[in-house]
Amino acid sequence: MQFSEIPGLSELKKQLVSAHKRGKVAHAQLFAGRQGTAALPMALAYASYLMCENKTEADSCGSCANCVRIKKLVHPDIHLHFPKISAAESKYEKVMAEAIPRFREFVMETPFGDLETWTKKYGQENKNLLISRQDSRQMLKNVSMRSVEGGYKILLIWMPEFMNPSSANAILKILEEPPEKTLYLLVSYSYDSLLATITSRTQLVNVSPNTEGEVKDYLIQKGMESSKADQAAKLAEGKIGLGLSIANTGDSQEYEDFQQWMLECWNKNLTGLVKRSEDFSKSGKAAQKSTLNFAIALLRNAVVHASGQTPPVQSESEKSFIGKFSDKLGFERLEKTYALSNEAIIHLERNSNPRITHLNLSLDIIRVLNG
Ligand SMILES: [Zn+2]
Repeated sequence: MQFSEIPGLSELKKQLVSAHKRGKVAHAQLFAGRQGTAALPMALAYASYLMCENKTEADSCGSCANCVRIKKLVHPDIHLHFPKISAAESKYEKVMAEAIPRFREFVMETPFGDLETWTKKYGQENKNLLISRQDSRQMLKNVSMRSVEGGYKILLIWMPEFMNPSSANAILKILEEPPEKTLYLLVSYSYDSLLATITSRTQLVNVSPNTEGEVKDYLIQKGMESSKADQAAKLAEGKIGLGLSIANTGDSQEYEDFQQWMLECWNKNLTGLVKRSEDFSKSGKAAQKSTLNFAIALLRNAVVHASGQTPPVQSESEKSFIGKFSDKLGFERLEKTYALSNEAIIHLERNSNPRITHLNLSLDIIRVLNG
């Protein structure tokens, strides 16, 4: 990854380059942005820049041995840590050996990807992923080893928010006093949920969302048709990853499902809703989140419409549905339904029972719609 492959964010790129030129590279840096932003690509581009043998004024060369190996995430002095399934100590090596090639593919194919994309790629959609105590031990090992090639040694920690307090505490000392030429690049999508012991020991690198125009251009550059790219960029809130996933998913099935669900709530069809929550619980964590996120995005557009503004909608059919739906329900009920769906996804992220969460949400929505 080179800086030039990341749209916009030129001030940040300049700052990172300048820190190197002034010999002021902080040993522990936390690249923080929302899911779908360029936080991970930026950390990778920075790692390439620092290790490149033929840097230009503002970027890595992209073709020296170090650049090529970093692009494939196979550089022996770059150690990868990321959420994965937990394993007994005796099975840790095996779990690592299986997870790392998939993680490499995930990063190469979808550098703007989020946790959902990763769990799908990893094939562990129903498991809780974490950065475990054993991962921390592995980090200590990484740090104690000499750099293989004598240059920087980099620990890339993707989503440190998945460390529990015990695994985080285990690395505090090395975060604070690393051996020479050892760098920690942490990439977080949830800065606020990180332990203060971590944030206080790292320098914050704030990765902002891109502009709508940058997202659109990026999607076009990736082969998206211009009008589709335009619509996806409008919904993406500056997150390239979100723009890509909106542009790539056919919306019709999710869309019909949502209409059907709202109709069941409207008609107090409990048999249908119970069945729906069962199907929901069987669909796997990533699909569950995607279903709720889809509902939330639609409801948000309906709220916008009901408040008299024009929502950024994707297609003619969506426009007409949102128009009718929001006229029928009105601002207040839509806003409540929107808030309830947001709460449900938070519960889900905290590992509530998916069937009960979905059924409770449906029952709450019945009350709102018929209240
Ligand atoms: Zn290079």
